[in-house]
Amino acid sequence: MVSGTTPVDVARIVEGDTTLVVPAGSISGVVPPRRPAFFNPRARRTRDLAVLAAGAHAEGHSGAYLDAMAGVGARGLRVAAEAGSYDMVFLNDSNPDAVGMARRSAALNGLGRVAFSNMEACRFLCEHSVRGGRGAAVDVDPFGSPAPYLDCALRALEYGGMLAVTATDLQVLGGLHDAACRRIYGGVPLWTVYGAETAVRLVAGCMATVAGRLGAGISVLHAESHMHYYRVYARLLSKPGSSRPGYMVHCHRCGCRRVSDTHPRACESCGGDAEAAGPLWTGPLFDADFVGRMALRDAEQNGGAYAAYLEKCRREAAMPAAFYTLDEVASRAGTGPPPLRMMLEGLRGEGFSAEATSFSPTGFRTDAPATDVHRIVSSAKSHAHKV
Ligand SMILES: [Zn+2]
Repeated sequence: MVSGTTPVDVARIVEGDTTLVVPAGSISGVVPPRRPAFFNPRARRTRDLAVLAAGAHAEGHSGAYLDAMAGVGARGLRVAAEAGSYDMVFLNDSNPDAVGMARRSAALNGLGRVAFSNMEACRFLCEHSVRGGRGAAVDVDPFGSPAPYLDCALRALEYGGMLAVTATDLQVLGGLHDAACRRIYGGVPLWTVYGAETAVRLVAGCMATVAGRLGAGISVLHAESHMHYYRVYARLLSKPGSSRPGYMVHCHRCGCRRVSDTHPRACESCGGDAEAAGPLWTGPLFDADFVGRMALRDAEQNGGAYAAYLEKCRREAAMPAAFYTLDEVASRAGTGPPPLRMMLEGLRGEGFSAEATSFSPTGFRTDAPATDVHRIVSSAKSHAHKV
């Protein structure tokens, strides 16, 4: 039993360097239950990356880490134990049973410099929205959309601080409910192979819009799409950033895709109907220096478990928005998909930039026009046959 409101069966697990007290039911069932408290052992990857991002951000930023929806504390306690130089980690959750387990875990790990509270998330964030009380980093990890919390979260963050948010409303961001997506995120998605990228751009676009209302701006440091969640890590800037909300314009006839400030009616390549997702964030999704620091920490702490993933993120940082997938371009060209390496070499061989994307195992980004991509996939495929 722990010091929550109800007796709870608990188990102990170790994740990273941290021992965690979690509900026993969360590690035995297929779907972790919401009660007595939610903990998903299969979401370790997102917590590992959150610890790396918190550590990368903490280099040069002391101050407080505010975990507004800490749950049983798996992420916040790991940040306190593994990410280094935060002066204080505040773990808050509206569920007293979850906070009880987080307290017990902190004691087990001998963690000082952690504080606990049991408030609704916005109330917690508002209490930190005062001079001297703001966070160097704020994390918002809700069920569903982070949009209702962005205002309070940004107000609780110092300039230069990092806001990390999770979105799990995949149906809304994936295009099943356009009206809801426009209402919640201020833009609409579009059904394409790069839907996961569109989704994180809608979340980042909403963050930028809310920051803009406060006279501030954001730059995106890292974005992640995995299984049933999206994560966006952004830095709060003291003035609006240079990236304006725009559109991802897509032509289903010729496969052309690009970023635009406006939504044109016709495809500039073939004259077909141009569809668009947005308004959304059209700026970079990765900061190469930041991702490089995450990779260094990964090498030290995890033996490079995420090295390949982070290297993809770093290399795609400066590449165009809207990736292609091998299946998509091969199908359009009437051929089978070549190996990704051969596709990248084919594009580079003709002087185009080309990189794999972290968003899809068969995805790639290039500055080549769609017509060249479809021509090159055929020659890459036939060349792959010969070797
Ligand atoms: Zn077209």
